[in-house]
Amino acid sequence: MQQILTQGVVTRAIDYGENDKIVTIITPEHGRLSGLLRGVKKVTAKMKFASQPFCFAQFKLIGRGDLLTVANATEIENFFDITQDYRATVAGSAILEIADSVSLLQEPDKLLFSGLLHALKTLAVTETDPDVVLMRFALGVFKITGYAMNLKTCKNCGKALSSDMVRFDADTGEFCCIHCSPTRYIPISGRTLEIMQNLTKLQFAELENIVINDTEAHEFHQIIRTNFAIRFGKDLKSIAV
Ligand SMILES: [Zn+2]
Repeated sequence: MQQILTQGVVTRAIDYGENDKIVTIITPEHGRLSGLLRGVKKVTAKMKFASQPFCFAQFKLIGRGDLLTVANATEIENFFDITQDYRATVAGSAILEIADSVSLLQEPDKLLFSGLLHALKTLAVTETDPDVVLMRFALGVFKITGYAMNLKTCKNCGKALSSDMVRFDADTGEFCCIHCSPTRYIPISGRTLEIMQNLTKLQFAELENIVINDTEAHEFHQIIRTNFAIRFGKDLKSIAV
């Protein structure tokens, strides 16, 4: 029998039987954990808050093997405000989905957890554009998993990418200049690339003044979704077209 005391963020919850739920929790020291929340679908359940995605709490889990039982949960900070805004909900769900997909079962990952926490906090308590937060988080995840995006040079000619239009190769997840790439590559505005280049140098607390338009937000989703599918073989449902 093991007992785990840990901070964690709930990324997913699925129904289990009549009254229970199984939650996926991302933690710094134990990676991804699955926890059974007994009786949590009853109206009077005390730990109902812990059965919702975005819950950030101190958990006590007990049991054996891969499915543990949540014995106790105490909220640390409330991130549920994210769900009050549509764009924040979409970006926040994509952040949870990315963290959930790249975290490993019971393997520590403090960098991923720290990025997840900063991203959710920024979404919940600041006016930062949700898709800027999502892109900053995604770029960080690509980097810590060994797939840092090359935002500086063309994959074909090796020259510095200019601030004009560029293209994105949906087969390899790389950028190239407009001149030396086939038209089947996805056109990306120079400003989208420029914002991405800036994001790699900034902390979450420094993103509040970055304003993006609908085109840039759309291109952000396209780049993250495409690159994520190439690197991790998985479609991000939260930002599917
Ligand atoms: Zn080129």
